[in-house]
Formats: sequence, structure tokens, C-alpha cells
Amino acid sequence: MSTKTEIMEMAQRVLDELGTYISDAETGRGRVLVQKDAGELARELGLERHVRCGGLNIESLPSILGPYLSNTQHMHHPGYIGHQVAVPHRASGIADMIHGFINNPMAIYEMGPSAATIERVIVNWMLEKIGWFHGGGLTDFNERSGNGTGVLTHGGSLANLTALLAARAAAFPDAWDEGVPTNAAVIVPKTAHYSLARAISISGVGQRAIYAAPVTEMEVLRPEELEGTYQRAIEDGRRVFMVSANACATSTGLYDPVDEVADFCERHNLWLHIDGAHGASALLSEKERPLIKGVHRADSIIWDAHKMMRTSSLCAAALFKRPEDLSNAFKQEGSYLFHDKDQPGFDVMPFAVECTKSGLGAKIFWVLAVEGEKGLGDFVQKQHEDTREFHKLISHQPNFACPYVPQSNILCFRYTGINTDDAQLSIRKELLRRGNFYVTTAEVSGKRYLRLAVMNPLTSVNTISALLEQIEDIASGLDESAT
Ligand SMILES: *Cc1c(COP(=O)(O)O)cnc(C)c1O
Repeated sequence: MSTKTEIMEMAQRVLDELGTYISDAETGRGRVLVQKDAGELARELGLERHVRCGGLNIESLPSILGPYLSNTQHMHHPGYIGHQVAVPHRASGIADMIHGFINNPMAIYEMGPSAATIERVIVNWMLEKIGWFHGGGLTDFNERSGNGTGVLTHGGSLANLTALLAARAAAFPDAWDEGVPTNAAVIVPKTAHYSLARAISISGVGQRAIYAAPVTEMEVLRPEELEGTYQRAIEDGRRVFMVSANACATSTGLYDPVDEVADFCERHNLWLHIDGAHGASALLSEKERPLIKGVHRADSIIWDAHKMMRTSSLCAAALFKRPEDLSNAFKQEGSYLFHDKDQPGFDVMPFAVECTKSGLGAKIFWVLAVEGEKGLGDFVQKQHEDTREFHKLISHQPNFACPYVPQSNILCFRYTGINTDDAQLSIRKELLRRGNFYVTTAEVSGKRYLRLAVMNPLTSVNTISALLEQIEDIASGLDESAT
């Protein structure tokens, strides 16, 4: 059996290997994604043997680590242009490593004072970007009028659920005990992330209570049509309690016009929820901020760090304009109790779906501690600017078309050389098989597009040119087989 010292040596070896793994991936020479059959991979990793017998030591370490690292989605490869998952900053890995060794789940302050304090400061920092923090510096923990609050969650899906429960409690204070009135309703764009639709059912509101907000052909919410949707709900005897807007939409990366939606919500005294899981990070760049103009007028917003803040998964925030709204989310009669207790810090347990909770703030903190907030804002801006460049490049190619000018780092395009939905899917399948690029597809207004989420700072014009060339090459093969 390995001694404690040997295990720490293994950890150091793992760190060295990870350093090499990242640098190799960054060169873009190998494959982005290696995915074998799961049975074959299980054998290669010796999983059965290791589970049954243990006994891993520094000599046998490579037999697991080698195949494990080869059979991965290589996020650092410039050809990773797939899902909206951060290519993690190395510093975010430091946070994970520390947590992994010391394990301070900080749902109550005394289980992780440093982690809990960091979470509070990170929440203040995010609130400040929205305009909901008026403290004298991020470490000012005093209650001040106009200060919002928030909690870090294991992902945006839980954050959406948290926000929905808060909106529910604000409209129906008895819902915690009595359940939701059957005429409760929400106005949500069809393009909302599925986690919000799920939260609507989990919270007992139910799918039939969803009134779809009208959208444009590019699936952006049309605020001028909200009134009609609202009146329809009223005629149905419904009581609308929440409107949600995407900032930005998952499929297209386009932003709903938050300011105009806020006008509507104010007129009818409705809760405005902003799903900023991906796009709220635009708030970090002065140049990109106007994309979410009016953000401070919302009642709740969710914001993922593991998308555009370069942190590993999971790390997200549910943020609220009024502190009492969050405390009411999980009880009938909430009292705002951040400082009610005779203790040196704050417990987040009363404000979270989770009980045991990881030191999530540390992931963001370590990235900030290296890059600073300007560095992180510059990153977001660069990804947006690069994507606009890529859009120009792609839309000027003869056999390619982009349906819209991107607002964020998400870009949809279509190979029009074979202008069918099936062709787009076949192209993606073959791209993944060849392994030089990882891209996704999305359906916008019923039409299938290839989709890029430009998460990797190393993805360049050269990467995209090579991608387009490969698509042409794949398409010529498809052409032949079709004829
Ligand atoms: C990714 C995403 C979510 C879900 O967040 P997770 O962290 O994956 O749970 C919710 N809303 C939008 C708009 C998203 O892009």
C-alpha cells in the first residue's frame, strides 16, 4: 500500500503531468476529443482491478493517468470551440486542488471560514458589477440600503431554481406551506434554457403555467409583444408573477433587450429574472456591458463563472436585488439573518438548495488573484471581438452563411454548399470523428446550424480557416456519397 508520503509524491507527479498535458493541448497538434467505446476504455484504465484491489503506487500511476488524460475532451486545444464550458485557467485548478486536499464545505461558516469569507467577497464583487452593492469596498460586510445579496451554487441550473423559488415566495408567501395557487403563471421565452423550464415544474408551478414570450426569427425576445401575452394570461384567469429574459440565449448567444423588458415588468409590478448564466460576464468589460443595459432593474439574475470566468465546473451565482427575497426563498416567513447570530461570519445554508457546499468562491478568487478584474474583463472582450472577426471570415466564404451578427462569443453558421439540416449534422459527426475540432450544432427557428462557442483564447483566425477547409473537404465526400 502506498504511504502517505508516496501519495503526496503521486500528487506532485500528477501536477507535472497536468502541466505537460495542458501545454501539449495548447499547441493544437493532437486531437481535441478522444472518445472510445466505454467498455474498451474501462479495460484500458484497469478500472475493475483498481476498484477491487487498490494498491496504486508511484510506479503504477502512469497506467491510470496516461490513458485517463488521453481519453479526454482537450479543452485547451485551440480546436475546442464546442460547449460553453470554460477552458479553465490554471489558477482555477489551484483552487480545486486546495479544496480537494483540505475539504472545507462552508455552508456553515465554522466549516470553512476562509472559503465562506471568499464567497461573500466574490458575491459582493458580482453585485457591484450589477449595481447592487454600495459598500465601502468588497470586504464591507455591513448591511446597507440598496445592497443586494446572493449565493454561489453548484451550477446555473440550481441558481435558476433558487431564483424561481424566490420569485414564487415574493408573489405567494404561503406557497412554502400551501403549495402554489393553480392560476400562477410565468412569461418565459421559448429559448430559455431547459433548466428554467425544469425549475418551473420542480417548484410546483408546472409547464402549463408557461406563457411563451414572443421572439424574433433569431429567437430574441420582442418586448413590444409582452403586453399581448400578459393580457392573454389575464383573460385566462392567470396571475403572472415572473418574466424571464436571456442574457444571452444558449443557442445563439444573442441578448434579450433587458431594459425594455424591465419597462414592461415595472408597469405591471412583475418580477424580472435574468438568465445570465453565460452572458452576464459581459458586465466585466466596459465595452461589452451595454449588451445588458438595464441589468440593475432586474429582481434576480444568475451568472455562471464556469462559462466565461475561466473557472472549472461548477461555479455559479444566484443574485438578488433585495436580500429578503433570498431569505424568503426557502421558508415561509423569512427573516434576513446574515448577522443575526452570535458568530464571527455568515452561514449560507439557509439560502441554498445544497446543504454541503463546496468552497465555490475560491475558483473565481484564484483566477482573479492572478488576472485581476481587468484581466478577466479583457478576456471576455477578446472572446467577443474574436468571434466578430470569425463571423466576418465565415460570412465572406462562398459556401457558408451566418444567420446573424454575433453579440457574444457564440456564433451559428451553416454550410450552404449542401443546404440541408442533415448535412450540418453529418459534417459535425465527421468533424468529431477526425478529431481536430470540437463544435456543436443548434436549432434556431427550426433550422439546424453549426455552432461555435469561442471559449478558448487560443482559437484564432487560422483555427477557423482550417475548420472551414476541413468542412469543405468533408462536404465533398458527402456530395460524392449522395450522387
Ligand atoms: C448553461 C446555461 C444554464 C445552465 O447552467 P449550468 O451551470 O450548466 O447548470 C442556464 N441558462 C443558460 C442561458 C445557460 O447558458
